[in-house]
Amino acid sequence: MKLSQLLFTQGFGARRECEGLIASGHVTVGGERVDDPFADVDPTGLQFTVRGEPWTYHEKALLVMNKPQGVECSQKPKHHPSIYSLLPAPLRRRDVQSIGRLDEDTTGLLLFTDDGALIHRFTSPKKHVPKVYEVTCKHPVTPDQIARLLEGVKLVDDPATVRAVACEPTGELTLRLTLVDGKYHQVKRMLAAVSNRVEGLHRSGFGALVLPADLAPGQWRWLEGPSAIVPA
Ligand code: URA
Repeated sequence: MKLSQLLFTQGFGARRECEGLIASGHVTVGGERVDDPFADVDPTGLQFTVRGEPWTYHEKALLVMNKPQGVECSQKPKHHPSIYSLLPAPLRRRDVQSIGRLDEDTTGLLLFTDDGALIHRFTSPKKHVPKVYEVTCKHPVTPDQIARLLEGVKLVDDPATVRAVACEPTGELTLRLTLVDGKYHQVKRMLAAVSNRVEGLHRSGFGALVLPADLAPGQWRWLEGPSAIVPA
């Protein structure tokens, strides 16, 4: 692949801009400056820098972020900054989208990709991908509440019964809840249905992926493919 084409696919701008970046000496490949926009490169795992910033070629983007509080999972946020403002320009230009959404006050594991088929695969209710939530409640968690969350509860304005596939207390006011569906405000509505109230919500797992402990709020990193989330 031509180097300028590679930069174009990775979100570094229009073709002409990518050619200009290279010709003006802003790009290195394998530690060496390359100023020929049409130099042939093997894209597989290619490491390069643009204006000193290191990048690795990814045909499809797949990232995990530790979502902080106070940002909205929307391109057009209403009250808070957009989650997309936390991503660098090349990823925004690649039009990565979050895989599902978390509420503005929810923290934790959020995936992004530019692969529409993957978004469908991980958000379709039929696929039953488990999502793990650490919930802090207003009132003490009772065995009866745990039992009802596992048996299934009815949400306001929704005829279907929803249930947790796993639910365990983790403290007097805290519980860990695993869901395979993803209805709007589902955790908050389920806790309300058992007469409790969510005071804090953090997603710690998505499929086989656990939020990396060293990923600070607002930070993101690449995943090497969907098998990190759903092992093949
Ligand atoms: N359930 C909620 O209520 N909020 C979230 O952000 C995610 C799941």
